[in-house]
Amino acid sequence: MPQPYDDQNIFAKILRGEIPNDTVLETDHTLAFRDIQPQAPVHVLVVPKGAYVDHADFCANASDAEVLDFTRASAEVCRLTGVIGDGFRTITNSGDHGVQEVPHYHQHILGGRALGWMLAKE
Ligand code: AMP
Repeated sequence: MPQPYDDQNIFAKILRGEIPNDTVLETDHTLAFRDIQPQAPVHVLVVPKGAYVDHADFCANASDAEVLDFTRASAEVCRLTGVIGDGFRTITNSGDHGVQEVPHYHQHILGGRALGWMLAKE
């Protein structure tokens, strides 16, 4: 059973302008801003403005316009931050196993250095 959307989550507050952010790009349906605890020289969060809890919620319930806008905004963030040439990684965490901390769907874009293996080898 998917969890209900919590409009007090930190990204909802950012989208309402209640908390400042370091914006990289804003479009009709998407806001991209720098992560407050960057894991790489480039670490940007791409966030749909609509109230979607996670990847499954966004993919199932966002409109075509929102999905297209989000996808194109993600690509534009890669271009604007200059990571395309050397490469980058996109990550979306979901649920307990994915360790999603903020319950508003978002994509991480990481780059600016060699990122190593996708997952720590155990
Ligand atoms: P996740 O674990 O995928 O939910 O990632 C949440 C991300 O949000 C983490 O990388 C945090 O550092 C980041 N974060 C939390 N609060 C803020 C904030 N106020 N501004 C920017 N990034 C934030």
